[in-house]
Amino acid sequence: MSKPKSKAAGLPAVLVTLRRTFREMGVRRTAQTLYRINQSDGFDCPGCAWGEPKDRRHAEFCENGAKAVAEEATTKRVGPEFFAEYSVADLASQTGHWLGQRGRLTHPTVRQPGAEHYEPISWDDAYDLIAQHLWECEPNEAVFYTSGRTSNEAAFLYQLLARSLGTNNLPDCSNMCHESSGTALNASIGIGKGSVTIEDVETADLVIVAGQNPGTNHPRMLTTLAAAKRNGARIIAINPLPEAGLRAFADPQKITGLAGHAQPLADDFLQIRIGGDLALFQGLGRLLVEAGAEDREFIEQHCAGYAEWADHISAVDLDTVVEATGLTLAQIESTAHAMASAERIVICWAMGLTQHEHAVATIEEATNLLLLRGMIGKPGAGLCPVRGHSNVQGDRTMGIFEQMPEWFLAALDQEFGIASPRPHGYDTVNAIRAMRDGKVKVFMAMGGNFAEATPDSEVTAEALRNCALTVQVSTKLNHSHTITGKTALILPSLGRTDLDVQDGVKQHVSVEDSMSMVHLSTGRLAPASPELRSEVAIVCELAQRVFGPEHPVAWGQFARNYDLIRDSIEKVVPGFDDYNQRVRARDGFLLPHPPRDSREFHTGTGRANFAVNDLHWVPTPAGRLVLQTLRSHDQFNTTIYGLDDRYRGVKGGRRVIFVNPEDIAALGHSDGDTVDLVSEWNGTERRAEGFRIVAYSTPPGNAAAYYPETNPLIPLDHVAKRSNTPASKAVIIRLEKSR
Ligand code: SF4
Repeated sequence: MSKPKSKAAGLPAVLVTLRRTFREMGVRRTAQTLYRINQSDGFDCPGCAWGEPKDRRHAEFCENGAKAVAEEATTKRVGPEFFAEYSVADLASQTGHWLGQRGRLTHPTVRQPGAEHYEPISWDDAYDLIAQHLWECEPNEAVFYTSGRTSNEAAFLYQLLARSLGTNNLPDCSNMCHESSGTALNASIGIGKGSVTIEDVETADLVIVAGQNPGTNHPRMLTTLAAAKRNGARIIAINPLPEAGLRAFADPQKITGLAGHAQPLADDFLQIRIGGDLALFQGLGRLLVEAGAEDREFIEQHCAGYAEWADHISAVDLDTVVEATGLTLAQIESTAHAMASAERIVICWAMGLTQHEHAVATIEEATNLLLLRGMIGKPGAGLCPVRGHSNVQGDRTMGIFEQMPEWFLAALDQEFGIASPRPHGYDTVNAIRAMRDGKVKVFMAMGGNFAEATPDSEVTAEALRNCALTVQVSTKLNHSHTITGKTALILPSLGRTDLDVQDGVKQHVSVEDSMSMVHLSTGRLAPASPELRSEVAIVCELAQRVFGPEHPVAWGQFARNYDLIRDSIEKVVPGFDDYNQRVRARDGFLLPHPPRDSREFHTGTGRANFAVNDLHWVPTPAGRLVLQTLRSHDQFNTTIYGLDDRYRGVKGGRRVIFVNPEDIAALGHSDGDTVDLVSEWNGTERRAEGFRIVAYSTPPGNAAAYYPETNPLIPLDHVAKRSNTPASKAVIIRLEKSR
């Protein structure tokens, strides 16, 4: 262990980037690839969903973006000989990091019932196998999962396949990340997306970053925060952990940054207790109302429910707020003062707000504060949920959702002459419940690592094993290939960096970032093998096998020309007019956002709604800790790039738990002890073994550890109210000396 860092990026980020990219791609391929990341004629980074600034730099990527690209563009290969050598049991005994480091999958493979090894299978036979299983089950006995890396074009066709089949079982990774944001924002402002552009963040005079660690999870956001600082903004960071990327940024694209000079970021760091954000926002609401900081004109013209909310919030007990947050009243008052005097406020957030039992209420309260201050539909102000996966927002826009509204289904039916089902399908947690209960026969995943990204790992594993067939469309190995249905298929797909030629013509795909910007992405690297297929081709070829030549959807044409897919999207999804022309513009195009664009709120009231919520927080029971699961700096979701967490001072290992030094002593342990983590929930217990205690700056009673190693501790039914998102950021645990 070494001392945690007080600044992010700098020369170390450059050195790690070069070391990782040279190791995976070699020098020449690294040079060929890195300068194309996030460029208008290049490919979209398969890392996070932070957008592109207007003035892109030659190196428009960060350390973790480069790691994501190196993972995909690696020259290492996993072919039939690999599966002949390693049985599924062998692979299951390896770590996720080891599996990911084996390289790109090159051939479709099948694990027959009872077989110990995967063996090669032809694409034709693979499609026949899937079609046979789909024909033999009811539509709702099939589940089609999507990882947020899937392009707009593939996602649109994937949902079309599922709905043509007759099911809305379309869970996606958004169910586990920003579903709570979508649920809250739809209720409050009538659209489940953030209302700011990058320029808004740069020109705000107050930026609040809550429950987010941008230094690791959205690193180029630090460039934007640094620009906001230079423009005079105040930054308030709210987080249980003093993350390096919230404190200071050494811009590696500046000599000064390489020399170690770091631009301070957060002016105020509020080290809040886990789950204290709802109380904080309510406390701020009370103080702002008492200060008369409301924008009366905005509220009268555009809002509903203000009076009820103001009455409710004025009764919030500030002592409870102080206890729930672990902050001082002075800190809370100072923040309220900053919000009352700011002209342009942006609130950014991520999983630290969304993965809680009361996450939807928390995000509604954050929105209430911006409505109170008239900060929606105003340049330099607004809501900024920062998405994880690079196209998770785009997938939702394309219809990857188990409960799409009637207007979308009607437009889809109109365009394609199909009869989409109307009953809602399964989201991720409900899909696991259905598989556990034997209601699902076929599980298909477009990318991702379902088995490890989901909570209650043992339950999820048994659920997947209950399926007759599991199909993984993947670029690399992970544990979802070792936890399989009776029969299992691995279908190797092209990645973002790969050249995609169909019918002799180079194809482009498109994605949508957290700012609702849609732009093209064009891969250029020769695919890892001629056996790889694009996600679009896989969906189209499978659909043709399942539905036959008489089906009304022109799958074959779509597979040969992605412009035709976009033509259909234009007819079904609002805001995509002249899609093919506008997406080819240098920066692509911005999707409409009625609250941002014209202060229109398409809610049930036709206005922006103030939401009234009870105050909830997460006390720490005696002798216990409240655990949050999080990423290291060397991972993206369940993809483990390496075993270091440079900013937090961890090297060469992942089974660590960060605990406040006083709690360590109070619980009778010592820094460096190895313990088991035992979660307690509704009379049930779950255990994760062999974690090293690391003394760390966390709020008293709070602890943190990495997922997926701690996902076994998260009960399947421990979810956010209304959004059903796993509440991975707050689970009660005890520490037991390892046996
Ligand atoms: S900030 Fe996100 S999208 Fe941008 S390069 Fe880094 S990982 Fe990729």
